[in-house]
Amino acid sequence: MQISVYVSATLRTFVNRKAKIEIEGNNVRKILERLQDEYPESKALFEEDGTLKPFVSVYLNEERVSEQSETSVQEGDQILLLPAIAGGAPAESVISDERRKQVALDDSEIERFNKHLMLREIGVKGQKRIKAAKVLIIGLGSLGSPVVQYLAAAGVGTIGIADFDEVSLGNLQSQVIHGTRDVHRPKIASARDSIKAINPKIKIETHNEKLEVDNIADIIEDYDIIVDCTDNYKSRYLINDACVLLEKPVVFGAMYQFEGQVSVFDAKSGPCFRCQFPAPPPSGLVPTCAEGGVISPLPGIIGSIQANEVLKLIIGGGESLAGKMLVVDTWNNHSSVLRIHKNDNCPICGKNPSITEIETFDYEDFCGLKQEENELLVEAIEAEELAARIEKGDPLTIVDVREPHERAIQRFPNAIVIPIGQLARRQKELDPDVDTIFICREGKRSILAINTLREAGYKGPMYSLKGGIESAKNIIFSNEGAWL
Ligand SMILES: [Zn+2]
Repeated sequence: MQISVYVSATLRTFVNRKAKIEIEGNNVRKILERLQDEYPESKALFEEDGTLKPFVSVYLNEERVSEQSETSVQEGDQILLLPAIAGGAPAESVISDERRKQVALDDSEIERFNKHLMLREIGVKGQKRIKAAKVLIIGLGSLGSPVVQYLAAAGVGTIGIADFDEVSLGNLQSQVIHGTRDVHRPKIASARDSIKAINPKIKIETHNEKLEVDNIADIIEDYDIIVDCTDNYKSRYLINDACVLLEKPVVFGAMYQFEGQVSVFDAKSGPCFRCQFPAPPPSGLVPTCAEGGVISPLPGIIGSIQANEVLKLIIGGGESLAGKMLVVDTWNNHSSVLRIHKNDNCPICGKNPSITEIETFDYEDFCGLKQEENELLVEAIEAEELAARIEKGDPLTIVDVREPHERAIQRFPNAIVIPIGQLARRQKELDPDVDTIFICREGKRSILAINTLREAGYKGPMYSLKGGIESAKNIIFSNEGAWL
């Protein structure tokens, strides 16, 4: 029997870039075994004992199942492989009646929010709750943009914004709260202007600092809801853990290329981010949004759904995405709401948590970001030195491990192209008597490539281009992208 296996965008590089695969089999375990036979690169997603690595989960018809499941599958069933990119009962409002009664709506607000007041589900009570609410948006990039806009337009009384970055030209394709004249301004300043332009009555609190273990609790403490609009695993785990400990709901959004995820993590009543994704993928294995790209309206779609979830938590009603994850694939117009479950062994929200304070947890190490370790393990070459060696005509092999769309933007001449997943079996193409230089966008995936080859037994000298193509741009390429 042929079963459709849907593969989430970030994992498609392991299955020849296919979104949907038909695989013969009558239970989940057999289908996943056959997947590894037919797509050998997908073996990277599995441990040696055949279990999936912790950053991947498998769903059968929208319920999470074990990869070893012998449950038989029927004609028309769907299997979904979902990575960390990363309830249901009508909820009570997060705003107490006492706080609601402390706010009043003036005439201009009654006119401004007329279309909310018309809705039976919101009405005056709901609008007062929205005005009384304090919401923190972490990350003012592409997801943060629509969240800021809609929460400001909806009348959230206090909006906190946290970001320490500046606006760049490349941000403007999807970060719609920033404009051309904001380039090089702090995102926080530009976001504040946008909120004021929408509604000058909103109280804005700015947090222009990087979130770390020693400041996050102070930053989030005063808010009712935290909206995670960040783009890296370290921030996501840090936000999750702090919010579990301080009992704050997190409205989570993530995306990659054409696909997005939204969920509400509230450990008081349901699963947290760690329950769903116990560990991040190894650094460099799954491309980030910056490396993978994103279609312009996608953050608008995902961020708007996040803003909608925030409003439902404030109003108190509707079906929230707590205990569920909405997955939207805008390229194939495929979307589903998956159930996610609390993990009793979760290290932060489980029955016997091992993380009881965030100060003692090493987030850098957990997310594989420890630079020193990588530097010890892998030798790097500076772009200047590589350029000089190429010019001298030194014998060396350059291996480009980037994705095809990245190479299309800037080709690295004279490089052979080997995806990381194929390195082990194609190591014969490398000459162990000659230096091999690995290049990627930022210098992270090339380190992973070298470690992969070492594990596969390759003995030749290997170097990572330090900082990747990004750091070599002005040295190896002229402005037009031409070679030297
Ligand atoms: Zn948990």
